[in-house]
Amino acid sequence: MEVISKWDDEKTLVVCDFDGTLSPRDMGYSILERFSMRNEWERIDNDYKKGFIGSREAYQKVAPTLRATRREIIEYVLCYGGIDPHFESFYRRSFNSGHDLIILSDGLDVYIEAMLSRCDLVGIRYYANKVVFGDDGSLSIEFPYSSKNCGKCGNCKLSTLKKHRRSYARIVYVGDGHSDFCPAGEADVIFGKGLLYERFSGTEKECYYYDDFSDVENILYNGDHQD
Ligand SMILES: [Mg+2]
Repeated sequence: MEVISKWDDEKTLVVCDFDGTLSPRDMGYSILERFSMRNEWERIDNDYKKGFIGSREAYQKVAPTLRATRREIIEYVLCYGGIDPHFESFYRRSFNSGHDLIILSDGLDVYIEAMLSRCDLVGIRYYANKVVFGDDGSLSIEFPYSSKNCGKCGNCKLSTLKKHRRSYARIVYVGDGHSDFCPAGEADVIFGKGLLYERFSGTEKECYYYDDFSDVENILYNGDHQD
């Protein structure tokens, strides 16, 4: 059994996806189900899942179907959403180990901010798409972290990860889905479940399966894994 604490003396950045990762429930989809006209968003989502359109185009098409105020969305996510109960311990352990941690999400800032604030994790830097609320209940979505090079994703996680690369000796990526493929491919170590684990398991990448952040903490800081 190898103890990965050898990283403790190297500058490490931990990068975490949000939906399906920090938040076990995908709040983006939950909000679409609650606040969008169902048939319209499912048709757009099917095009996204089949790769016909990127998430940026999907968001641009789905935004006009949404009707919600900021307060309605926040009340909804605080009622039905929640952060992985093991994440706070992992975050403190990372901080105490001298590691930095950021969140890269192709979701929406409004619910990420609300959910982090409730757990007193508001100081964590996150990169996400931005919701702009209109006075009439309409909303639009802006993409402050999109990339001109590709243009498919609302938030280009890869470009943000590359900007941090020069400042860190090691990058650890924790995620679960398709939007994590590009940035995880540039990370040194991957913690994956779902599609992300399927993508990198058995490849040359160092990739560990996790169910929740207690697994990530045990493997990363206690060396608790089987080779
Ligand atoms: Mg995800």
